[in-house]
Amino acid sequence: MPFIDTHCHLDHPAYADLAAVCRQGEQAGVEVIVAAGTGLASNQRTLALQQQQPAHVWAALGLHPERLDASWEEVEAVLYQLREHRGRVAALGEVGLPHYALLDGSMTDEQARQHEAFLHALVKGAVDLGLPVVLHAPHAAAAKALAIVRCHEPSGVVFHWHKGSPETTAAICDAGYFVSVTPEVCYRERDRELVRTVPLRNLLLESDGPWPYGGEFAGQPTTPAMVSRLATEVGRLKGVSLEEVRNAVWENARHLFGRGETGFDPVAGR
Ligand SMILES: [Zn+2]
Repeated sequence: MPFIDTHCHLDHPAYADLAAVCRQGEQAGVEVIVAAGTGLASNQRTLALQQQQPAHVWAALGLHPERLDASWEEVEAVLYQLREHRGRVAALGEVGLPHYALLDGSMTDEQARQHEAFLHALVKGAVDLGLPVVLHAPHAAAAKALAIVRCHEPSGVVFHWHKGSPETTAAICDAGYFVSVTPEVCYRERDRELVRTVPLRNLLLESDGPWPYGGEFAGQPTTPAMVSRLATEVGRLKGVSLEEVRNAVWENARHLFGRGETGFDPVAGR
């Protein structure tokens, strides 16, 4: 089984040489990268990347919830993009609820409420298309986002870089949804504890590149290849072999991204 990086912003200029990024990932056993779009233009670039490297790149199209300039026009345009390119799309994402923009005061409560309405509309669209959902819902936003996705019941959900409370984490796992963890698992106790408590069948791994990390990764550019190091650490924390982590995470990804009724079949597409 290959490793899969389930969340990377491949359309970022840091990954201008896509062939080199895929080759470096492959050398580390990371053969598949889920590229997360953050809005109309980013989604367009993500689709182009999927076309360049169809064996390595699975495209997720979304609208980032921390964006202050998001509008209903863009929500409608993203829904249209999803429908138009359904056969090449693996998921709706990155979508979700704001947290950091509220924390630093740049987003108003009114804008945050609008993002809740956007999320309802986008998830409903994903359900209509049989697509799973990649969520950005840090900290307390996770419980709120869980309530919203449960209104619509998409085929699958992953809470990317999950940082919710233990109660929310348990509810996510009970619902059969996934949480994904980043290279922070290698050096940050909060994330290590999350890995110890989440069943392997609910776990996915991601780089969230180009986000920079500390610990042993300090000063290094973030790439999908880091997922193999992350998998080794997950195996250590859970007391299972690397092979077991690799197989479980691949099956989880296949289950999440590959079970849409129509269109994109990432497994057959490989
Ligand atoms: Zn992201």
